[in-house]
Amino acid sequence: MKEFILAAEDVNKTFQGFKAISNLNFYMDKGELRTVIGPNGAGKTTFLDLITGRSKPDTGSIKFEEKTELTDLNEYQIYRLGVGRKFQTPTVYVDHTVFENLVLSLEGSRGVFNALFARVTPAQRDRIHEILKTINLANKADVKAGTLAHGQKQWLEIGMLLAQNAKLLLVDEPAAGMTDEETVRTGELLLSLAGKHSIIVIEHDMLFVRQIATKVTVLHQGAVLCEGTVDDVQNNEKVIEVYLGRSKARA
Ligand code: ADP
Ligand code: MG
Repeated sequence: MKEFILAAEDVNKTFQGFKAISNLNFYMDKGELRTVIGPNGAGKTTFLDLITGRSKPDTGSIKFEEKTELTDLNEYQIYRLGVGRKFQTPTVYVDHTVFENLVLSLEGSRGVFNALFARVTPAQRDRIHEILKTINLANKADVKAGTLAHGQKQWLEIGMLLAQNAKLLLVDEPAAGMTDEETVRTGELLLSLAGKHSIIVIEHDMLFVRQIATKVTVLHQGAVLCEGTVDDVQNNEKVIEVYLGRSKARA
């Protein structure tokens, strides 16, 4: 049997009486690439906040690798366990080169100052070049991250999660603002990382979801409305009613 990378059980989170997450149960196998969709306000971002320790649930359990209770840990401890998050807006260091951005994210590097002035070991250099190839930025190592196109910045940020050695990657709306070609390449990148990494992708663009998804979870009012293949969820009556039917999601 496969090991769960993440098991969330009976999770609740209320904001001033409003149930953002409501008895949520969510299980994900190690190595899975899972896509989470759902209307605005469904609780997707809140769920990521609870996984990363940015906020704490009122009740419930979120276990990582079947043993570590994430709700007992703080944000930094969870990050150190290998949970990496990419926000929707890229947060790269614009005045540093692409290479330096990856150095700064290397697992074990202690803060900006130390990382840049400490010597990069040959092994670290090799690792960064591997990552640069993976994220399609091998020819951009020495350019300032601020000069990259929007899509390239997003790939760099995914590369930074790899440098951090994240086991579980949480990626919030990667295709937002991307050209069609960038979107396709982002899908290919995520597919190439699945297996070695476990990945949760939150996404609205149904074409993109179709490109990457094996299993899709639909969140609605803070709980799982339906789970299955893209076809399963697109044909599900409840999903059509609350989401696909009345949104401008492209099918
Ligand atoms: P999604 O990412 O699926 O669009 P969110 O997780 O951002 O949804 O939000 C779920 C619900 O919780 C929304 O109704 C939102 O207004 C509410 N919410 C989220 N964060 C807070 C907060 N810090 N304070 C109050 N309400 C919040
Ligand atoms: Mg959100």
